[in-house]
Amino acid sequence: MPEIMEWARDLLMSRGALVETETAETAQAGALRAMLPAELAGALESSEWLSLRFGAGAGADDEGEWLDRLGRLLPRDARVVGARLRRLGIAPAIDAEAVLDRGLAIQNGIYRLIESYQETARYYFFTFRYTIESDETSLGIWTACLNATAGSLVHQPERLLHAVRDDLEEDPQFAIPREELARLFPIALRGARPQIRRLAAGIEQISTRRLARDAERIDSYYRDLLSQIEKRIARHRGDADAAAKERRRAAATELDRGAKLEDLARKYSLKIRVEPGDVLAVQLPVREIRVRMIRKKAERVARLHWNPAPGALESPWCEGCFGPAHPLLLCDERVHFLCKQCLAACGSCGKPYCRACQAKCRCGYAG
Ligand SMILES: [Zn+2]
Ligand SMILES: [Zn+2]
Ligand SMILES: [Zn+2]
Repeated sequence: MPEIMEWARDLLMSRGALVETETAETAQAGALRAMLPAELAGALESSEWLSLRFGAGAGADDEGEWLDRLGRLLPRDARVVGARLRRLGIAPAIDAEAVLDRGLAIQNGIYRLIESYQETARYYFFTFRYTIESDETSLGIWTACLNATAGSLVHQPERLLHAVRDDLEEDPQFAIPREELARLFPIALRGARPQIRRLAAGIEQISTRRLARDAERIDSYYRDLLSQIEKRIARHRGDADAAAKERRRAAATELDRGAKLEDLARKYSLKIRVEPGDVLAVQLPVREIRVRMIRKKAERVARLHWNPAPGALESPWCEGCFGPAHPLLLCDERVHFLCKQCLAACGSCGKPYCRACQAKCRCGYAG
């Protein structure tokens, strides 16, 4: 299932849509069908029966357009709190050359330091409540943190929050920047999903083990039952009626076993739900480092941030998928910042292409 599809499905479900269960066929086609509450349909400017298909081929929906539309779904009632430092300190001067040397891993280009100076950056901490359901339910909260000024993902949000929390106070002048939030929310959600999935992997392992154990138990119970019936059939060799009755019993027992195993698979199947929670917006002092990023004949000036709280250079997010881009790759034409997947070879013609420049490869294939 394409990334955007999974993301869209989670987002729609978190807003009360009934999403059709994925089948091999819809997964193959990259399709998603859902029934939306009227208010949600209104927000998305779609009908209440939503049918989406992304990827190559005629009639596919436009990914970029749907990313924008889905981005509006940041819950209206989400609590957005603006905070500021009691005293906006200054970020200490740094050896920018050494910071870049340690923290900036460009795989296919070079950089030149221009200058570094004091700056204030807008950070957003997005919280997501998640529920991982299997035979047991586990609940938790995941925080994603974005630096909106630099366009970077904070690697360990809880560390940053922990470092500044005691110095924060509510900002009385704070006005909710709706547009920026709508733009950042999908990026935060996209970032949170794989992390939550990673947490779910441990639970999935335990469930798989329990499922195997229980299935074996059920299997052995029915094996015994069937072998007893077999013996009775053998004993009734002379009595056709009695043997036929035992055969019917064997068939019913088989059906029963199938149903029990199906129940078991259902009980242990993994369901992950992600719901958006509160957002904390806070301004923090950083060192801004201006660099020229150079790829072949193209170049661009970037502004990277070093935050004193974790004491680390933040990596810009991938401009193709908005996930982490470390190591960082650059595209030939517009020097986009990319992760490895977003500059990968096309699945059809084998030529690498920039997923930020083009939604599809020149050969027409998306993927
Ligand atoms: Zn990417
Ligand atoms: Zn291609
Ligand atoms: Zn590009």
